Amino acid sequence: MAVTKPSSIERMLERIDTLDAATLASLAQRLGRERGLFERVFNVLQEGVLVVDADGEIAYANAAAHRLLGLRASDGPAPALWRLVPGLRAMLAPALESGTGLTREIELSYPEPRAVRLYLVPFAAPVAALDLASVVEARRFAVVLTDITRDKLDTDQRIESERVASIVLLAAGVAHELGNPLNSLTIHLQVVERKLRKLRGIDKKDTAGLAESLRVCQDEVARLDGIIANFLQAIRPSPPDFSDLRLGDVLAEVLAFQERELTDRGVNVEVEAAREVPEISADRDQMKQVFFNLIKNASEAMQPGGRLRIRLGADEDHVLLAFTDTGTGIKPEDLARLFEPYHTTKPGGHGLGMMVVQRIMRAHGGHISVESNPGHGTTVTLQFPLKHRRVRLLGPAP
Ligand code: ADP
Ligand code: MG
Repeated sequence: MAVTKPSSIERMLERIDTLDAATLASLAQRLGRERGLFERVFNVLQEGVLVVDADGEIAYANAAAHRLLGLRASDGPAPALWRLVPGLRAMLAPALESGTGLTREIELSYPEPRAVRLYLVPFAAPVAALDLASVVEARRFAVVLTDITRDKLDTDQRIESERVASIVLLAAGVAHELGNPLNSLTIHLQVVERKLRKLRGIDKKDTAGLAESLRVCQDEVARLDGIIANFLQAIRPSPPDFSDLRLGDVLAEVLAFQERELTDRGVNVEVEAAREVPEISADRDQMKQVFFNLIKNASEAMQPGGRLRIRLGADEDHVLLAFTDTGTGIKPEDLARLFEPYHTTKPGGHGLGMMVVQRIMRAHGGHISVESNPGHGTTVTLQFPLKHRRVRLLGPAP
């Protein structure tokens, strides 16, 4: 195409005085086509490209520049660049005077807030002289605008997440350190308890009060211990240690462990398991933790006489486990915050249980969904990918 071989046009332009009308017309057409081509190239660029003079008058702006600066083609002559971007003239003044290049990051507020890298480079452009007959060289500036809003946001997010990470590290250290005094408190409380038991025979009245205080201290220590353990688990997630598991077996273990608490609360548990439930690949301890948290939440939401129904089954792609309770249910506004750390509606709750459950499910390529009918109950459904699905998901595409 002509662009790659401009020589014939240039040769014709050199002899322009000698050309007849027909040749001139064809030359004008060729120049028009050429210009059209360049225009299309400039208009598909992501970068805004402008040509301005030292007064900021815009001689050319491509489509991206129109978009970034909110210029409209129909507005007639474009306003000076300085009017479009206040503060820019002062910023560019030294470069404009000396005619040197410059690159800067600027903020645009109109038509929408954007962060832009501006690159300005001077060049000599042929322009018509005052007498309009001759051509002189004038200094012009090519301005290239690159939208860096996205990059900047990513960087800001990275800095923010690094900041959070360092706070988390600090908090983890503190939480870990709290473990030692708590341990020592536990041991000493046990000693006091033992002594108290011995004294009980001698002075019944006084020791009864002391025993109650002691129980309160022990409960509080256990609570602090729980908060710290949960906190550490929440902020230091360990990657799952996968092995082949039958979820029914793991569930039975957890239920046996919680049996006492469930009986104390007067909660009835029914387990319905389909006959053939495939094994899944999962971390045994993490699964226990998931079930423990869900069963605990369900039982805490119910009154004596409540019923927890656990159904285990499978479809073509998943193993499914549903926990349905007849508890208080969850209000829609609370449902939206269910997985948020520290969101709790319980006095003494720490609001980390559901967050841990969600994190573990994600790490297993699984999914958790919660349906709740306030006043009637809640169903939490866990969905685990089948083993062969998991391999397919992680391995090369079939
Ligand atoms: P915590 O149990 O310490 O409050 P969780 O993260 O385990 O923290 O649960 C967060 C909140 O979600 C609970 O305080 C409760 O309001 C609500 N919730 C979770 N499970 C249930 C459930 N089965 N029934 C009713 N509310 C629930
Ligand atoms: Mg909980």
